[in-house]
Amino acid sequence: MNHSWTRRGLLGTGIAALVITGSQFAEIPALFAQGQEVNIYSSRHYNTDKQLYDEFTRQTGIKVNVIEGEPDPLIVRIKSEGKNSPADVLLTADAGRLWRANQEGIFATVNSKTLQSKIPANLRDPQGRWFGFSKRARVIVYNKSKVKPNQVKTYADLTKPQWKGKVISRPGNNIYNQSLVAWMIVNQGAPAATNWSKGLVANFARPPQGNDTAQIEAVAAGVADLAIVNTYYVANLATNKDPKKQEVFNKVGVIFPDQAGGGTHINISGGGLVATAPNKAAGIKFLEYLASPKAQAFFAQANNEYPVVAGTPLSATVKSMGTFKESKTSIASYGPNLARALQITDQTGWK
Ligand code: FE
Repeated sequence: MNHSWTRRGLLGTGIAALVITGSQFAEIPALFAQGQEVNIYSSRHYNTDKQLYDEFTRQTGIKVNVIEGEPDPLIVRIKSEGKNSPADVLLTADAGRLWRANQEGIFATVNSKTLQSKIPANLRDPQGRWFGFSKRARVIVYNKSKVKPNQVKTYADLTKPQWKGKVISRPGNNIYNQSLVAWMIVNQGAPAATNWSKGLVANFARPPQGNDTAQIEAVAAGVADLAIVNTYYVANLATNKDPKKQEVFNKVGVIFPDQAGGGTHINISGGGLVATAPNKAAGIKFLEYLASPKAQAFFAQANNEYPVVAGTPLSATVKSMGTFKESKTSIASYGPNLARALQITDQTGWK
C-alpha cells in the first residue's frame, strides 16, 4: 500500500488553465482555480490513471493528489481521520463496498444535474451519495474443450446435477459474490437464493480458493469446467503481455447468464464526495468530470470495464466479448441485502 501523496498537478499558467468545464464554477474563470486542489483516495491503480487525473487538471487547473490503497483500509482510514481527513473523493469498486462506506457515514449527498442526467438511475445511489463510473458483469467462464456455450444459460444452470464436481468460485464471502447473492435475493427472494447457493456448493470441484483470475486459470487448466467471474478479469488476460495469460484467455469462453430472463448481474466501480471534504466544490467537479466522454474512456478502458455513460467506446477486447442484456436491478438495492447474503453463503457452506 502506498500512502504517500502522488503529485499529479500540472499547475501552470498555460492557456489550458482557461478552459472552463463543469457546472460548479461555470461563472468563475478557471484561472482563479489555480492553487486549488482535490484529494482522491482510490483503490484504483491502473496505467491510464495518470492520464485520467492529468486531463482533469488540464481542463480545470485543479491539482489532483492521489492516495492509493486497498479498498477496505481506505474506508477505515477516512473514518479514523475523521473531520481532519484530507479526502475529498473516495473511489472504490463494488456496490457492496460503496454501500458499506455510506453506512459508515463517509459520503455527502451530491445534487448534480450532470451526474443525474449522465449516469443511469440504477447505477447510482438515489440520494446522490455514490455514483457508478464503470460497470462489470459477473459472468460464467467455461472451458471451450469441455463445454458448449448453449449447455449453460443461467446462474441456476450451474446447480444442475450434470455439473457435479465441475464448478469453481472464489469464496462466498468475497464482496463480488455477496453482491451477486444480494441481487438474487432482490429478484427471486431469500429462499431461492439459498437453494441456488446450496446447489452451487454441491457442484464445487474444490473448496473455494483464490481470486477471479485464479478461477479462470483453473478452468483453462481443466481443474473445472465452469467458474463465476467478473468480465474484466477475462478481458485483462487477453490484453496481458504474458503469452501464457493470453493462452488462458484463448482456452475459455464467456457466457452472459440470464439472457432470456432479467439479464446478467451487473456491478460497478464508483465513488462519491467525502462528507468531510475540505475541497467540496473541486470534489464535485472531479466526480462530474468522471462522467465526461474522455474520462469515461480512460476509466472504463483502464480495466476493461463497461462505461456507464452511453456512447463511450468499449475497449477492443470488451467489444469482442459481444453484446448482452444486463440486469437493470438498482445497484442500491444490493446493500440492504448483504447481511442476509452472508448468512446464506455461510449456512450453505460456500466458504
Ligand atoms: Fe476486481
